[in-house]
Amino acid sequence: MKFAIGNDHAGLELKKYLINILNEMNISFTDCGANSALSVDYPDFAAKVVNEVQDKRCDFGLLICGTGIGMSIAANKFPGIRAALCLNEFMAKHARLHNNANVLVLGARVTDNFSAGAILKEWIKIKFEEGRHEKRISKICDIEKSNSHLVTLREKDPDIYRIIKNEIARQEYKLEMIASENYASLSDIEALGTVLTNKYAEGYPDKRYYGGCVNVDMVEELARTRCKELFGAEHVNVQPHSGSQANMAVYFSVLKPGDTIMGMNLSHGGHLTHGSSANFSGKFYKIISYGVNKKDYKIDYDEVRDLARLNRPRIIVAGASAYPRIIDFALFKSIADEVGAYFMVDMAHIAGLDAAGVHRSPVSYADFVTSTTHKTLRGPRGGMILCKKEFASIIDKMIFPGIQGGPLMNVIAAKAVCFKEAMTDEFKIYQKQVVINAQVLASKLMKYGFNIISGGTDNHLMLVDLTCKNVSGKEAEEVLEKAGITINKNVIPFDAKPPTVTSGIRIGTPAVTTRGMKEKEMEQIADFICRIISDPQNTSLINEVGEEIHKLCRQFPVYSHLV
Ligand code: PLP
Repeated sequence: MKFAIGNDHAGLELKKYLINILNEMNISFTDCGANSALSVDYPDFAAKVVNEVQDKRCDFGLLICGTGIGMSIAANKFPGIRAALCLNEFMAKHARLHNNANVLVLGARVTDNFSAGAILKEWIKIKFEEGRHEKRISKICDIEKSNSHLVTLREKDPDIYRIIKNEIARQEYKLEMIASENYASLSDIEALGTVLTNKYAEGYPDKRYYGGCVNVDMVEELARTRCKELFGAEHVNVQPHSGSQANMAVYFSVLKPGDTIMGMNLSHGGHLTHGSSANFSGKFYKIISYGVNKKDYKIDYDEVRDLARLNRPRIIVAGASAYPRIIDFALFKSIADEVGAYFMVDMAHIAGLDAAGVHRSPVSYADFVTSTTHKTLRGPRGGMILCKKEFASIIDKMIFPGIQGGPLMNVIAAKAVCFKEAMTDEFKIYQKQVVINAQVLASKLMKYGFNIISGGTDNHLMLVDLTCKNVSGKEAEEVLEKAGITINKNVIPFDAKPPTVTSGIRIGTPAVTTRGMKEKEMEQIADFICRIISDPQNTSLINEVGEEIHKLCRQFPVYSHLV
């Protein structure tokens, strides 16, 4: 046990007395001052002591001023601090037992030396009683977090503050089931909202075009090291502002305009950047698209091989935005080798599953692996590129100065936080549950007569064909949103309807699993979806289901203390 002790001029003599007691008891301490009788400001010493406790260098703080009131008020302004002004042993006992107080405050002008000594001894003797009091302490922590959140914004820009508060409530009280979304951790969000956003750092660690990069160099180095370790990559670039820019950087590095890219058809689950005519990829390059077959709605690898042989693409892209099955990276690689193409995997959707070993890793097969960091990986919105060593230099040069300027250092810090989180056992358990949840939800929906494309899912998402329910994807998105389930309309392979209407919806389980929902809740969600889609015009039914959804969300809080 170690104390940090601080006092103002009024508390100096009592401190000396109490230090003797600590010495007699063989208890160590750090004396944070003040050590003269000259008038000082008590908040300065409260801050010093509290920092020792917050940084865990000391177990308890001991603060002394005239009445103890100023020191208590100051100390209790600090997160994680529970300072208790004690006038007798009974108060000391209960401050430890019930409140798990971590700073003892004494008033030298209201408590005599002998009584103060007895209070200190009682404090040292008593341990926090776990159990019913923990819930109360955690409520204090929630109040603290909520009141320190967006304090300045609230004052300076109440309009934006209010909108953000509404968005927190929307995310908290609705079922977020867009397959590409998730809830970033609070530490991630904290890293995003830091002064790192102020720093220009064009270049890379130790090779910047700006001064003052000592701290951001360390941030980026940590992000790179963690990312490399997490995915077993030879080289990583953590600077892409988005998944699209990561893809652009790879194409621009190894392709010339007019070269051929072979990627998955957007309407079969591919991404815009894999060759859509509306996207730069479809405008700058010749595109050959492969898709799924009509038999089982899985990637038609024979078609991939035939198309590759026929068109000799310069790069083959695997990866998707709406494909619910395992992708065979080894097979793709063999096709790419056969035709002399580069092989790129866009693992944006499955990066978290991959990091946790729940999906086959593309890293050993692909020349380039690109990703976003905000989907199953559960980090901040952004992108990254993993590649073989031989491509390190061209990729780095293409990100900067090729297509980007200064990196977003606050985002890179949050990426580093997310990579660390992704290395934990807890994250592996989470990713397994994401897949289990998707499978339970898909099979329950099938029991309710929904047509799940490809007959199920191996990953975090499913595509639901609503044709047999006589509801379009657009209508389903709107009506589910009214009840409190957020999903997106999505074309299904061979869809007869345009992308603005669609015959299907895409549903994902990453976000609801982050809240802690499991199989039982997935069955409930399937039930909600079924009831609404079976009777989409029934307003009272929508309201009724909406209330049930609200209740369910309250049982699985995620940002509740920020609402
Ligand atoms: N690649 C895939 C497979 C995606 O699903 C997405 C986004 O949904 C992207 C790339 C693009 O990411 P961003 O929106 O960050 O540009």
